[in-house]
Amino acid sequence: MNEITRLHAGSWTSRIREEARRLGFFKMGVARAGALPESSRFDAWLAQGMHGEMDYMRRQSARRRDPSLILDGIRSVVVLAMNYHSGERQAEDALKGKISRYAWGSDYHTLTKRRLECLMDFIRQLEPQARGVCYVDTGPVMEKVWGAQSSLGWIGKNANLISRDQGSWFFIGVILLDLELDYDSGSKDYCGTCTNCISVCPTGAIVAPYVVDARLCISYLTIELRGPIPRDLRSLIGNRIYGCDDCQEVCPWNRFAITTEEAEFWPQAGNVVPELVPLVTLSVEDFNSRFENSPIRRAQRDGFVRNVVVALGNSHKSEAVPALVQAVHDRSPLVRRHAAWALGQIPTSHARTALAEARRMERDPDVIEEIDTALAEGRSSERATD
Ligand code: SF4
Ligand code: SF4
Repeated sequence: MNEITRLHAGSWTSRIREEARRLGFFKMGVARAGALPESSRFDAWLAQGMHGEMDYMRRQSARRRDPSLILDGIRSVVVLAMNYHSGERQAEDALKGKISRYAWGSDYHTLTKRRLECLMDFIRQLEPQARGVCYVDTGPVMEKVWGAQSSLGWIGKNANLISRDQGSWFFIGVILLDLELDYDSGSKDYCGTCTNCISVCPTGAIVAPYVVDARLCISYLTIELRGPIPRDLRSLIGNRIYGCDDCQEVCPWNRFAITTEEAEFWPQAGNVVPELVPLVTLSVEDFNSRFENSPIRRAQRDGFVRNVVVALGNSHKSEAVPALVQAVHDRSPLVRRHAAWALGQIPTSHARTALAEARRMERDPDVIEEIDTALAEGRSSERATD
């Protein structure tokens, strides 16, 4: 079959490219499959524990390095970019929460995967025996590295894949394929002397050019991390309640972003800088129904409300206190301990009384420790003010 596919490689590649465009992918890159030469950087990142609690990365590391462990007989990796930039702006308001742009619309996995499968159907019309596996984000595939191996773009110092045509506001889909195609030569690095992303990162998560320590990254802390957010990072998170776009917002290549035509990626009502206070009282059912078809569901209710109460603490506004008083009695200890911290950030007598009251009723040792710390910090700042 490989002899046959080699004969057709050129014409198939251009027809697949044409069909990918018709399906809404603004760019397609094709790389020859093989073990990845760049995997040593990934290995070092794992060895230093920078993946945090994302242990699936370690478990799947062999398949990430070598896609032939996923698809026997693999010849090509087809990488596709789908624009999600809606053109809206994030307003600055401490009592409103920032959500990462990619999560403003419907769940991208569904739409992008559907389109990849349509493309795979098209490939099977060209060659009925073709075998392929489609992934959007959740597979054991290093999409960004494959994107850089093909012509899709380069991995910037912020660790995002950047296209010279449209910047970095796009989803990446991958098809692993057992057909020989025409291969792209890969993209150059166009970061040059720019260091905007490194300077702007609120938590210093870009620990070296091209290296993001997930344990410090707000995207990881607000989406992937299931447990408590380390105390020293909470105030750096500001009002970001799901992800963080700062290192992309400042990237000069995003000047070339254009607005997506995919209506499913346009913002759903209330997803661009929502009011924080009403989000504190979301029950599990409310959360699941409000974010039913949204990537935000990944954070789960307790993780999301944890983020919301941290953002309210960072507002330092007395208007946040009544909602935080409710949250310090939430059924989730994770929410209660962050609510205690947040109340400690707002030095009003209402907040202090609520903390003292919660201290009398609380039984969970982790929450008690947070309350005690918040009360102690409040006392020392009072002394400093005196
Ligand atoms: Fe830093 Fe935010 Fe970029 Fe993470 S997403 S590296 S926290 S700027
Ligand atoms: Fe590269 Fe500058 Fe963009 Fe960072 S902000 S990814 S250094 S071009």
